[in-house]
Amino acid sequence: MTNISNQDFNRTFEGRIALVTGAASGIGAACARALSKRGAAKLFLVDVDEEGLSALNLECDVETIIGSVGDEALWDVLEPRLTGLDHAIVNAGIGSGGPISDLTMSEWRRIMDVNLDGAFLTLRSAMRAMKASDGGSAVITASTTGVKPVPGVGPYGISKAAVAHMARIAAMEGAKDNIRVNAIAPGGVDTAIWESGDDFRRAVERFGRDATIQKMAQTTPSGRFASSEEIADSMLFMLSDAGSNITGHVLVSDGGFTL
Ligand code: NAD
Repeated sequence: MTNISNQDFNRTFEGRIALVTGAASGIGAACARALSKRGAAKLFLVDVDEEGLSALNLECDVETIIGSVGDEALWDVLEPRLTGLDHAIVNAGIGSGGPISDLTMSEWRRIMDVNLDGAFLTLRSAMRAMKASDGGSAVITASTTGVKPVPGVGPYGISKAAVAHMARIAAMEGAKDNIRVNAIAPGGVDTAIWESGDDFRRAVERFGRDATIQKMAQTTPSGRFASSEEIADSMLFMLSDAGSNITGHVLVSDGGFTL
């Protein structure tokens, strides 16, 4: 492990190999761009959105994998190719709405398949690959909805509480193999994930997107949503050698939402 003070911070990921899921949009795309800009040699990018992935146009060597993180067969094929993996951003996720008493089992499974099963399959393959080399680090994208109970987003919040705990357990298990695992719990971030909500889409039709985001941000002390780039910067700090003593931590980045 190199001391960060001896490195050019802008080249923190020089020569590194990293995996990013949900890389076609929002936080995952910002992580992929930042890793490439900071010198990563190769990125494995996983997403269901082929068009979004090809639009990224990164400087480093890129291998795109089109498919769902919840599909075990995808990992059976990808895992043997992850030789020498240094870092993983376990990030793909989808939103959901509706109170627990109204939820169907299929809606519950739809969310868990991506947000929980997908995170497990991603982290399992990443940790196996890192264990086979000299170790590495992973950051999982959780959410403040997994920290503070927010009514109406049951399966989403529950899946995010689960992946935050997954990071802590994986940190305990990975330490002996020089693997660090952390999570980030963002509050509102201005990304496409909000478009999947019916209430959001209705509000956008009535008031416009900017006004809708601004109104939602009023429940946050900072009065604003974060950008994907802000969240990616915090994730890359924990992922990098600058975070070399940080493991099993869930970093809340929410403009004060959970206070
Ligand atoms: P986004 O919709 O912009 O990006 C999510 C990406 O995941 C998309 O490219 C999508 O195609 C991909 N994806 C969805 N299902 C997939 C699957 N089965 N397999 C592979 N890829 C899949 O949203 P985002 O806000 O950037 O979301 C990234 C992560 O951040 C998610 O885990 C989300 O839950 C989390 N998060 C977002 C917010 C927010 O306010 N935007 C807040 C807290 C946490």
